[in-house]
Amino acid sequence: MDLNAYESGGAPLLGEPLPIELANATYAVRGRLVDGLTTVEHAAAWLRDNRARFATALDDDALLALDEADLRAIRSLRDAARTLIDAAARGTDAPAEAVGELNRHVRRAPSWRELATGPGPATLTRSAAAPVPAALGEIAQATVDLVTGPERELLRACQAPGCVLYFLKNHPRREWSGPDCGNRARAARHYERTRQS
Ligand SMILES: [Zn+2]
Repeated sequence: MDLNAYESGGAPLLGEPLPIELANATYAVRGRLVDGLTTVEHAAAWLRDNRARFATALDDDALLALDEADLRAIRSLRDAARTLIDAAARGTDAPAEAVGELNRHVRRAPSWRELATGPGPATLTRSAAAPVPAALGEIAQATVDLVTGPERELLRACQAPGCVLYFLKNHPRREWSGPDCGNRARAARHYERTRQS
């Protein structure tokens, strides 16, 4: 099987930090909640589409070997990241169950950086775990930093009608997860105004 033929499950890729990108693998289409990570193929495709952003090397062989245990792991990490990002966006404390789940992923795949042999100075990220758990550990660690670091204040749940995505308010005027949401929200406001007049 060719990895490039794998279907993605439709999760939107918005260039958000990886923990948010993974949380957004639960999304909505016309008001209906969609799970973008229901099969091994979806999970492999999600990692394939994001692999350039990982310090962990994710080659085709690692992604083609992805199994049901990896699928359960990425789903549980997605759900924990989603809960924790949501709590941070709302300024509430993180639920203990999600904290425990996230920490299990961090501990499962400790990684370190080694010095690479030239040319030029470079590092290689290594882990005692297999590539897929290592990549998930990397997202888990990034989630810890995201919900405790300076970017915590910038986490937002998109308020557009029917949207369930999260984003980092990386611009003072940014209000939505993406341009489609801004357009939908403006259309809804316009509809409300014309209905009332
Ligand atoms: Zn949105």
